[in-house]
Amino acid sequence: MQTPPAAAPQASRATREPESRASNSNQSFSSLIRVQSLRKSYQTARGALELFEDLDLEVEAGEMVAIVGQSGAGKSTLLHILGALDAPSAGTVYCASTHVTSLSAREAAAFRNREIGYVWQFHYLLPEFTALENVAMPLLARGVGKGEALRAANQWLGEVGLEDRSDHRPGELSGGEQQRVALARALVCHPRLLLADEPTGDLDGVTAGRVFELIERLHLSHGLTSILVTHNMDLAMRCRRILRLENGRLTEITDVHPK
Ligand code: ADP
Repeated sequence: MQTPPAAAPQASRATREPESRASNSNQSFSSLIRVQSLRKSYQTARGALELFEDLDLEVEAGEMVAIVGQSGAGKSTLLHILGALDAPSAGTVYCASTHVTSLSAREAAAFRNREIGYVWQFHYLLPEFTALENVAMPLLARGVGKGEALRAANQWLGEVGLEDRSDHRPGELSGGEQQRVALARALVCHPRLLLADEPTGDLDGVTAGRVFELIERLHLSHGLTSILVTHNMDLAMRCRRILRLENGRLTEITDVHPK
């Protein structure tokens, strides 16, 4: 794994002083994401594994944030908690005006469909469906009619440069193309937040760069707030903000960008 530069970068806690905030309201935070005193532990055969004990994070709307850190540091777990795919052991998570940690399973599913676009290292496209059908799937899941869902999916395949591959099944696409389709599927419902877990980790260097460029372009053109987990420091440095997850805490890396 590539690690951040040996000369220890300046680091600070990954929170900022709020501009204005009422302490008892879910809605009044200026941040799109606000995580406070997050704790996550797993019970294992060898006892409790404490992943986060007191983790804080704030992310403003429109930010593109990279999270780096050693394998096993808890990066995927953190993304899952932010996106209501996993529950913390303690602490609070506000995300897109929602108190994520208090959602029922049904509410969490609706929250994910409405607010979150996920991309993983592996595309997880359904092999028996075409690229177009895969992209339309989240719209169909929220009850959009088939014709409208396929039209929107076709438009999104155009956005990721694959309109001419709409009838291809995932097995008939290259790795980079599969990840482009996965991006279109993640964004077809117009979420506010893109959570990407090693989205280029399974691609060669050139293809990874191109997919990353696409993420940057979509981030800007759709006004997304994006959090990307990556072990690729060259790609992380293209984000405005880099956080390192280490020993259960996030620290801000502030001096890796060229002056
Ligand atoms: P990263 O994404 O930084 O590589 P992960 O979030 O995937 O790290 O995992 C963090 C640690 O938590 C790892 O040591 C992993 O083995 C452990 N872990 C993840 N899920 C579970 C689970 N369900 N039960 C027990 N341990 C787990």
